[in-house]
Amino acid sequence: MGEKTRIHRLAERGVTDRRQINQILDEGLVCHAAYVIDDRPVVIPTLYVRNGDHLLLHGSNSSGLVRAVGDRSPLSVGVTHIDGLVVARSGFHSSANYRSVVVHGRGRILAGEEHRKALDVIVETLIPGRLSDIRHPTEAETKQTSVIELSLDEVSAKVRSGGPADDPADLTSDAWAGVVPFSLVAGEAEPAEDLRDGIPIPDYLQPYQL
Ligand SMILES: Cc1cc2nc3c(=O)[nH]c(=O)nc-3n(C[C@H](O)[C@H](O)[C@H](O)COP(=O)(O)OP(=O)(O)OC[C@H]3O[C@@H](n4cnc5c(N)ncnc54)[C@H](O)[C@@H]3O)c2cc1C
Repeated sequence: MGEKTRIHRLAERGVTDRRQINQILDEGLVCHAAYVIDDRPVVIPTLYVRNGDHLLLHGSNSSGLVRAVGDRSPLSVGVTHIDGLVVARSGFHSSANYRSVVVHGRGRILAGEEHRKALDVIVETLIPGRLSDIRHPTEAETKQTSVIELSLDEVSAKVRSGGPADDPADLTSDAWAGVVPFSLVAGEAEPAEDLRDGIPIPDYLQPYQL
């Protein structure tokens, strides 16, 4: 583990197993990407996918994220799943159950065939099965959309699970204690208003697997 990825507080919650880190990443859709532009830090929420040992982010060529990465800004990306609210017998011990990953590095803007393939990987990872149902992107669409590849070389992860860790003296309290679990669940697919008649919802969307 490098200095950048060293967790200081509650380090025992740190996870170094790459398979577990990949699982956390694969369960997510949205990351928060932090970069520096015009001497100020910015955090932007955006979609991502994991492709082997890299994350792929995409965006318009004119977006701040793409411009900053093109200018070699350092990049840090966070992914968080909140699994529950931990309701302890004191405010101090109240907490959240979570799984989170932080990646550090410098993104690389893909070009040529790598760029075209990465766009397909993004679509097919976000909606597995989709590529065979839709047209190829046009040259203009491909040119407008940059893909940023970020290596998972410098990565950290942290997980909290379980109930409240109250002080022994608080266990006689009359206050309720426990966990309110959270999960992200996809609803039923809703057809577009302008969808032609007779087109069924594809199997891969019923249900969409997060
Ligand atoms: C949903 C959620 C809620 C949280 N709420 C709080 C809160 O209210 N108060 C609080 O103090 N902490 C909270 N945390 C924990 C917080 O993310 C940090 O872990 C914490 O601030 C301690 O950081 P540090 O000083 O050890 O590390 P820092 O010195 O801040 O960071 C050093 C390195 O450790 C790694 N790292 C640190 N935290 C994480 C993480 N969560 N996941 C992956 N890598 C990490 C990064 O690579 C980072 O560069 C929360 C985390 C999550 C996911």
